[in-house]
Amino acid sequence: MAQITLSNLAHTYVPGGAHESDFALKTLNHVWEEGGAYALLGPSGCGKTTLLNIISGLIMPSHGRVLFDGVDVTALPAEKRDIAQVFQFPVVYDTMTVRENLAFPLKNRGLAMPDIQARVALIAEMIGLESVLDQRARGLTADAKQKISLARGMVRESVNAILFDEPLTVIDPQLKWELRTQLKSLHREFGHTMIYVTHDQVEALTFADTVVMMHEGRVLQMGTPESLFETPAHTFVGHFIGSPGMNFFDAQIEGCDAMIYGQRIPLGRRYKSLSGRTQVGIRPEYIQFTKEGGLPAVIKHIEDVGRRRIVHAEVAESLVKVSLPDGYSFDTTMDRIRFNPDKINIFVDGWRTEGEAL
Ligand code: ATP
Repeated sequence: MAQITLSNLAHTYVPGGAHESDFALKTLNHVWEEGGAYALLGPSGCGKTTLLNIISGLIMPSHGRVLFDGVDVTALPAEKRDIAQVFQFPVVYDTMTVRENLAFPLKNRGLAMPDIQARVALIAEMIGLESVLDQRARGLTADAKQKISLARGMVRESVNAILFDEPLTVIDPQLKWELRTQLKSLHREFGHTMIYVTHDQVEALTFADTVVMMHEGRVLQMGTPESLFETPAHTFVGHFIGSPGMNFFDAQIEGCDAMIYGQRIPLGRRYKSLSGRTQVGIRPEYIQFTKEGGLPAVIKHIEDVGRRRIVHAEVAESLVKVSLPDGYSFDTTMDRIRFNPDKINIFVDGWRTEGEAL
């Protein structure tokens, strides 16, 4: 396993591209810790695969360097980087049995047969392939084939990193949940440095200890799933994370109050005078209905989403979503909403700004 350093890294696919908009990956500087479980999360086209392929050596970056444990590997081709990679679609040898498929990367590296057998048996058990070990890959379902790809990615003990590029895309939804959990426990058990690319926040938040949230070639935030939820660094992160995402209101910030549509909303922190577009961000989970105070809200409709209900309401010309836990009762005389002051985030021109404790 390796610590991965990305130093002044940037990439453009445009020959001679020099303008910022030419860059699929804008300059970034990061150190990813040895043994960490990272998810690269963001919408289609934000640069996740570009970054992953630079780390694996499939793409030579236009600028900057990649270091594994302090050693510059920027010019090393993929096969010399000692990494394992799992792609969106299964890559398996159809004529081999599942056992032979899993053993292949180990045989290639000259491991002794008893070690190969033990390792293959262990990984097959953890990914749920024991019952098909002696079947040929050809006749198996797409799900089973992708499990073989995942197992092959995990089978080598000494790799610098394991990279996953949307590996659960072809997997049936029920099995997806199971495999996500299995990948997480494989990480706990073996402690490999793992990087997992996905546009699905549930996958990212369940798998990763550190989520790297990308947008338009830029890393907007790198942090724990909790920090992306509670203190998103940018309004985009607030929108993208959560179901539904964060609510935003244009507001004037005056010390420890926000003025929204002429109503004074208390904040949990104090802010110095702010210039630019200032917004209050509040998660649907941190809004309550009330009879007094807060902001007047007109309920438009209520959506049942299993263990919660999502209330869609209008506050002046803004739409707001409120997430109510099971069993929460409210009556129609509760026609105002209140925000939990400690859960309010303040954004200036899209970026979160930190206030002082009261
Ligand atoms: P997706 O989830 O759709 O794969 P992504 O977040 O992985 O998206 P990338 O595939 O890294 O994003 O693409 C980032 C940007 O670079 C996009 O604008 C894309 O069109 C562009 N791009 C990617 N590969 C190439 C290429 N080989 N040549 C030219 N432009 C490319």
